[in-house]
Amino acid sequence: MDLVRTLTMQFFPKRIFIQFGTIFALLVFNSLTKVDGQTQQTSSHHDYCIIGAGPSGLQMGYFLEKSGRDYIIFERTNTSGNFFTKYPRHRTLISINKRNTGRTNKEFNMRHDWNSLLSDKEHLKLRYYSKEMFPHADVLVKYLSDFQRMNNLNVQFNAEMSNIQTVRNDSVKEKHTFTMSDQYNNKYACRWLIVATGLWKPNIPKFDGIELTQGYESISINADDFEGKSVLILGRGNSAFETANAIYGATNVVHMIARSRVRLAWATHYVGDLRAVNNGVLDTYQLKSLDGIAEAFLSDETKLMSKNGKYQLVTDDEFFDNFAFRESYDVIIRCLGFTFDDELFYNPYSPPLFGMAQSWKRMAICENAG
Ligand SMILES: Cc1cc2nc3c(=O)[nH]c(=O)nc-3n(C[C@H](O)[C@H](O)[C@H](O)COP(=O)(O)OP(=O)(O)OC[C@H]3O[C@@H](n4cnc5c(N)ncnc54)[C@H](O)[C@@H]3O)c2cc1C
Repeated sequence: MDLVRTLTMQFFPKRIFIQFGTIFALLVFNSLTKVDGQTQQTSSHHDYCIIGAGPSGLQMGYFLEKSGRDYIIFERTNTSGNFFTKYPRHRTLISINKRNTGRTNKEFNMRHDWNSLLSDKEHLKLRYYSKEMFPHADVLVKYLSDFQRMNNLNVQFNAEMSNIQTVRNDSVKEKHTFTMSDQYNNKYACRWLIVATGLWKPNIPKFDGIELTQGYESISINADDFEGKSVLILGRGNSAFETANAIYGATNVVHMIARSRVRLAWATHYVGDLRAVNNGVLDTYQLKSLDGIAEAFLSDETKLMSKNGKYQLVTDDEFFDNFAFRESYDVIIRCLGFTFDDELFYNPYSPPLFGMAQSWKRMAICENAG
């Protein structure tokens, strides 16, 4: 059976979590902006180029390696699984490390292992790296590095790709070749391109005073820095609650706002919704401590004002007119998620999706991909 079709079927039922990043990450593009007539010098050609050595890129690389394909994985940093060297910021994974199921069926057990990648090496499972149900994120980084090394995956580290485009190539069926360059302007070309760069650009809304906020991506993870402070967190997903959980023992208050109701993963059955492991502030909120959660829409009309070193958020949302939230805050933290970085394309645009990719949760694989 065709390699990549096999991958689609085997990979996705299991890797529940990686689907997050894969939403945009694992797309095989079959048409990008054409640079008609332009010929570009390339120093290196491969059948398959994968950009990103996160879990998705490594998993794809594993199957290409196993089937003897000509491929390369480009990784802009010096490590596999780079995302997890920094995130989650407070370093506890929310993907479960379910080591025991009482069953011997490997397929069944793998379905309950949210971290391990597929491979034929029995010892390459996260369960052998940690006994914790929610391991430290460094454990996953170590695991992913081992996965790359032990499977001899062809990763070129410290290679940040950009300027992706297509050039006409009449000698191949697709009639185009992908070209790209790294930060040193070395040129690369490939027949098939797999963008597995994940979602790593902080989502920063545009409203007056947004520059006064601090982002989840760079906020201090030392609770002492929040001692006796009043904190407002914008956002109410896992990163927001993770942040609140880490500091609420030190703060005067933690208030949180977002436009939608809190969606609890145990109610919605979606792993990306608020996980119980992060939801301590719900307790203190419901048990009438000073912490608070409100719904408000952060629109262009929202304003963040600064007075005497304190910050106040003003929205035009009538539901936000809540006494507690009229207070000023010492710190306002953005935890509003991450977006796909389309600047790696020569012509940033919404990539055309085809086949299964029309559903944003699925990897798109071209049936005739070699
Ligand atoms: C705050 C937060 C916490 C999370 N916690 C967990 C968790 O506990 N457990 C879990 O399973 N999932 C968690 N996730 C989801 C998880 O991050 C993704 O599912 C997973 O990282 C997706 O893998 P990926 O390989 O698609 O992308 P990534 O892991 O993001 O990998 C992308 C790789 O591409 C590289 N790259 C990017 N741009 C370029 C470029 N231009 N050139 C070369 N290389 C490039 C990056 O350096 C990176 O190594 C969390 C997500 C967030 C936002």
